[in-house]
Amino acid sequence: MNAEIISVGTELLLGQIVNTNAKYLSEKMAEIGVDVYYHTTVGDNKERFKKALQIAEKRADLVITTGGLGPTSDDITKEVVAEYLDLPLLVSEDDVSRFKRYLEERNREWVESNLRQFMYAKGTEILKNDLGFALGMAAKKDDSSYILLPGPPGEMKCMFERYAIPWINKNLLGHTKITLFSRVLRFTGIPESKLEYDLKDLFDEQQDPTLALLIKPGEITLRLSAKAKKQEDFNAKIEPLLSKIESRVGKYLVKEDEGPLLEILAKRLTKQKITLSTAESCTGGMVSGHFTSIPGSSHFYLGSIIAYSNELKKSLLGIPSEMLDDYGAVSKQVASAMAENVRRVTGSSLGIAVTGIAGPDGATAKKEVGLVYIALNAPGFAVTQKFNFTGDRENVRMSCVNSVQHILWQYLKKAPKIGSTNIYNEGANNEHRI
Ligand code: ATP
Repeated sequence: MNAEIISVGTELLLGQIVNTNAKYLSEKMAEIGVDVYYHTTVGDNKERFKKALQIAEKRADLVITTGGLGPTSDDITKEVVAEYLDLPLLVSEDDVSRFKRYLEERNREWVESNLRQFMYAKGTEILKNDLGFALGMAAKKDDSSYILLPGPPGEMKCMFERYAIPWINKNLLGHTKITLFSRVLRFTGIPESKLEYDLKDLFDEQQDPTLALLIKPGEITLRLSAKAKKQEDFNAKIEPLLSKIESRVGKYLVKEDEGPLLEILAKRLTKQKITLSTAESCTGGMVSGHFTSIPGSSHFYLGSIIAYSNELKKSLLGIPSEMLDDYGAVSKQVASAMAENVRRVTGSSLGIAVTGIAGPDGATAKKEVGLVYIALNAPGFAVTQKFNFTGDRENVRMSCVNSVQHILWQYLKKAPKIGSTNIYNEGANNEHRI
């Protein structure tokens, strides 16, 4: 079965709001095994909306609309769909009475235009709105089905999950339900380009299962998806692909069942009572934002010193002027000193520092845009790694966040064995061209 999502609202076409409803619905439809082949956005215009319905009906089994169920004259969805299906509009008197009581209790007046919200087309099913008033609707006519949802995302999600999904399951999917299963593989320490290159033929040939690469701050994920009746069938289906991936890039794979790498790090640090602080230059707080995005981060994360200027590197982190003059702020010496000093200043068990040139300006004859040093300092242990990231400013900064996580992960894996100081040496192990 396939579906088309029609998002209704002129403000979507004007770029005033982002169409998060379509994103959400697509994700949810995939979860219940319905393919979404098209997204259409149409303004509050009856003729164009009808045309969109005509097109959608020809190419989709299920048409889901969001928006335009409210009380104002530009809320035209029910009117248009009822006309299109050639069904008269009725009013749900129960819901009108409930709304009138609600208004009375608040000393507010009933306005006739409110009736729109409580309309539905004859013979269709009303979808209740537990977080608002505008009713939704579900209809089946000939080979096509229609679901009308409200625009406000909270109301839309609630109605979809509580009432639309059961309706779809009961009326459209029945008992032969095929579900889209997914498994997410998480990688660290490998650039996206290399991962893509190493798996190129698998991406090129993909059909069923499919592969999707997603880059977020802190992690690269690869989603394997396939339709199956049950989890065991899915596991068997992806097994050959999984083996190929593991044989090629298995060493960068984080144990998948433990969740995102950030959560794994947080659990380890918390469990081992290791505290962390960071000193950031070119990332300007992104590393800190990343660590504090996780609930419970206060158990291990003490904070960050964002020392963007050389003055703050000196005054807050105690980096000597001579070191900055001799080696420059983007250097292994400064990164290493930043990590050591932030640990001292904050009293944390670990200090991590990032200094680099995020670009597009800032390159010198000797230092290119993308040059970054990341240092980790712990009692009896210090390491500084040099990176040459590519891409634009955001890409370089995001690569820094990913690499901080990777360095921390490597440290925690080896931590019990580490006892001796391992200060940076310019050997191949410490240099990364990404
Ligand atoms: P209301 O009763 O509030 O009028 P409605 O069902 O008529 O609800 P709209 O008027 O189309 O919905 O949209 C109401 C608000 O919902 C919009 O101003 C916007 O904030 C949000 N919204 C609508 N459509 C979307 C969408 N596709 N993605 C995200 N937000 C949306």
